[in-house]
Amino acid sequence: MKWFIDMLTNRCPVCREGAIFHSLIKMNADCPVCQTHFEREVGFFSMSIFIGYIVATVIALPFFIVALLLRLDIYWLIGLPGAVIILTTPIIFRYGRILWIYIDEWLDPRSVK
Ligand SMILES: [Zn+2]
Repeated sequence: MKWFIDMLTNRCPVCREGAIFHSLIKMNADCPVCQTHFEREVGFFSMSIFIGYIVATVIALPFFIVALLLRLDIYWLIGLPGAVIILTTPIIFRYGRILWIYIDEWLDPRSVK
């Protein structure tokens, strides 16, 4: 369960100390502690776009369900989750990448340098 807390708190998947992002949407190229290069190959973060779709769905689905249960009209049904997705885009981008880095590290672990 510690990996989940480390992931939520933006920690490097290898050393669990260095930060992956140094601001809301600016990412470190390498871990400031263990110097692990986060982008393993060209196009590495393409998969994080797909992960971002899943994160966006997880964030927006409760708002869609609430709009559905309250029997709001179609504009609210589409507009409310859409507005939530637009407002949380930096979070979706950030956790799409962090989740992908953790999944990749789980599938193909590196040793600490
Ligand atoms: Zn590190």
